Amino acid sequence: MDIRNLVAGYGKNEVLHNVSLSVAPGEVVALIGANGAGKTTLMSTILGRIAPMSGEVRFKGEDITKASVQRRVRKGLALVPEGREPLKPLTVQENLVVARNRNADGRGRAEVHEQLDQVYDLFPRLKDRYRQQSGSMSGGEQQMLAIGRALMSRPELLMLDEPSLGLAPTIVDTVFESLARLRGSGLSMLLVEQDAFLALDFADRGYVLDTGGVTLEGPANELAADPTVKASYLGMA
Ligand code: ATP
Repeated sequence: MDIRNLVAGYGKNEVLHNVSLSVAPGEVVALIGANGAGKTTLMSTILGRIAPMSGEVRFKGEDITKASVQRRVRKGLALVPEGREPLKPLTVQENLVVARNRNADGRGRAEVHEQLDQVYDLFPRLKDRYRQQSGSMSGGEQQMLAIGRALMSRPELLMLDEPSLGLAPTIVDTVFESLARLRGSGLSMLLVEQDAFLALDFADRGYVLDTGGVTLEGPANELAADPTVKASYLGMA
């Protein structure tokens, strides 16, 4: 996925100024930055929820800047949104099936079951609770469900917006163990994390976004050692 000179925002309020960023197949890329830097706006624009003012989004060799969200999902993009957005009155399994149907292009029931099996294999906790109303699940379980929903469309690039937010450390470990398994299967990821240490420890490469512009980029271990990053995002003076 390649973003070139992207300018985007809300109405006349420009939030992203000329952002260029890429994620290679199989690569895990972290995007770090302070609150309000524009990370969520960037992911929403990549997914097609926000139309950019200018610039280009390319995925698997195709210019998708003007493509619908559904078309992008069918092509292999998926987002795990901040706040998880489960359909609270529905059960775990209903949430997963709806996510599949909404994005599928007429593929059969067998494939839905295959995808469900994969999600349940990754998150046995969801399998145990498949009939539970999703709104009554813990934050960690809802995060697993949000990732599961995104996986139902068989993505090639998974974008994750703050997956560790509000979760206890042991649950964060469980979620990241699952993400490591997904990475092992070749899935590319763009990871936004408030916990910059966690993100840079997990990622191959990273970008720092500051008030809508990329100020630093490089291998994750180099960014983690960068004095500016340490002072601003890793809480080390
Ligand atoms: P956070 O970590 O706090 O979620 P972020 O880096 O994801 O921050 P964004 O949520 O992309 O940042 O917000 C970037 C800017 O865009 C902020 O100034 C925010 O107030 C503004 N913004 C976000 N969503 C909207 C919206 N729906 N309408 C108008 N302005 C918005």
